[in-house]
Amino acid sequence: MKSMLPVVELFHSLQGEGAHAGRSAFFIRLASCQVGCPWCDTKNSWSKDNHPEKNIMYLSEEAAKARAAGAAFVVITGGEPLHHNLDPLCTTIRQVTTSKEKETMPIHIETSGVDLITGNPNWITLSPKRHSPPRQEALQRCHELKVVIHGKDDLIFAEAMKLRMKRKNKPLLFLQPGWNCHEGQKLAFEFVKSHPIWRLSMQTHKWLGVS
Ligand code: SF4
Repeated sequence: MKSMLPVVELFHSLQGEGAHAGRSAFFIRLASCQVGCPWCDTKNSWSKDNHPEKNIMYLSEEAAKARAAGAAFVVITGGEPLHHNLDPLCTTIRQVTTSKEKETMPIHIETSGVDLITGNPNWITLSPKRHSPPRQEALQRCHELKVVIHGKDDLIFAEAMKLRMKRKNKPLLFLQPGWNCHEGQKLAFEFVKSHPIWRLSMQTHKWLGVS
């Protein structure tokens, strides 16, 4: 069992994006990403060599402390968190954060969908990339699909991702303009207006200037 993972940062904040935006959450940002999006805002997480390995028990205890301080769920993000097998970490988080009422702390994962899903997450945010499309499993299992919009091709990609889902119950569908991208803001806004199955996601933490 892998008991150490490379960690970029741990922090208790509010989820800024998607369906859970505005909720108190504890973030575990793991290092390592080979997807290589040009507009990535966490490029410092790409290499795992620059970041210390932390024990999964330590990470779980930090999650438990955050829960005691009000965090409603854990978000495991990156980097691409599913480059790692998350089974050991998620099992330990569930053991350590179980409350007196026997409720485990929900675990959310934010992924581009290029890897197998591990950790049995309670919530999967799939943010697929045009240049590195997701596995079918991620499209079938995600709870929300969030596509970053910079230009018209991204809207076409978003619709193609929706159509690739062979499932009765569609997840929540979000278009999220790239940060500081006026074109993306305009396109996403107008598209959502005329395609009500989609919703707009804004990076509220960036507007607030917080992590
Ligand atoms: S998948 Fe995420 S972490 Fe990796 S390069 Fe793209 S935006 Fe950055």
